[in-house]
Amino acid sequence: MAQIKLQNVEDYYEIGEVLGSGHFGQVCAVLERASGVHWAGKFLKLRRSASSRLGLERKSVEREVEILQSLQHANVMALRDVFESRAEVVLIVELISGGELFDFIAEKESLSEEEAIEFLKQILMGVGFMHTKNIAHFDLKPENIMLADKTMPHPHIKIIDFGLAHRLKQGEEYRSLSGTPQYIGKWNIPHVYCLLSGLSPFQGDNDEETLKNIVGMIYEFEENYFNQTSTMAKDFIEKLLVKDPIERMTADECLLHPWIKPVTRKQADNRSRSSINMKSFKKFNAKRKWKMSYNMVWACNRLFRLQLQCKSRSQEDPELRQCESDQEDTETKPASLIRRRLSSSS
Ligand code: ATP
Repeated sequence: MAQIKLQNVEDYYEIGEVLGSGHFGQVCAVLERASGVHWAGKFLKLRRSASSRLGLERKSVEREVEILQSLQHANVMALRDVFESRAEVVLIVELISGGELFDFIAEKESLSEEEAIEFLKQILMGVGFMHTKNIAHFDLKPENIMLADKTMPHPHIKIIDFGLAHRLKQGEEYRSLSGTPQYIGKWNIPHVYCLLSGLSPFQGDNDEETLKNIVGMIYEFEENYFNQTSTMAKDFIEKLLVKDPIERMTADECLLHPWIKPVTRKQADNRSRSSINMKSFKKFNAKRKWKMSYNMVWACNRLFRLQLQCKSRSQEDPELRQCESDQEDTETKPASLIRRRLSSSS
């Protein structure tokens, strides 16, 4: 198990290019100095005080580390090392170089259900393993399903980003932000629907209608989009997108559904003849990528405004130390900012 090290991460790892960013920091390629092995480093900025709005609470980072430590599975990103400094925690994790699964699929001309199931099965195995440890991911969006190496004939799925994951204790009820009780094993992935049709299952004509559809699990299979889909795939979705979580299939039950594990020849043939609606899926993926970029720009602007607010408030009131310390953080150029500059200038 990885012990949290208080040494400087750069004594052990050379920091390379930025691979991605999230709400609380960046992920960079890193090279282990002693072995020459490539890893990824997830740099998480720590919140400096309870009243600060920047960075993550130490408790949340500890939870992410503890969960990753207990999840050693072929379809879950592996944790190698953890470093902590005053301002940030660095998770050294397995380097996943194949990009997002949805981007990989969107580049294809065609994909049969049988081929799509090979990926879905691996996701189910990773999620099923988490559930045996009573861990719920709570953020299984397409961005968090990556491929170890997309040049392999059968690329390997890796589930990433355990920032929202929780270990649920027996008898303890966990409620999502919307107040819905969450049950271990009773997961819900609308992305199977998106993958097959290129549509979001609950999309309404306006936000209010979409919310109503999500809460009531109201959706339909539009013929125009589902005319290449097998009846088994629709049955699979119907057993997954169920309002009462108790009634939903568990990841293990999904693995036994005939769409995933056909028992007759006819079922197997059905899957290989049915296919993903690629035209619609490509459009869906392009829209998703556009939304991700938009959200990232919006988040950067918000952070910038927050820092400006803190700066002007602390000039008016010198006792506003919390804001000052956040501001001080950026002005003294934390390692992650210096890295961003280095990578953008190279
Ligand atoms: P979010 O704001 O979505 O919760 P986060 O701050 O928790 O994100 P991650 O989702 O873990 O950060 O990582 C951000 C991005 O960095 C990912 O979308 C991915 O592109 C890239 N990334 C994460 N982990 C790895 C890895 N092990 N190897 C390669 N790239 C990675």
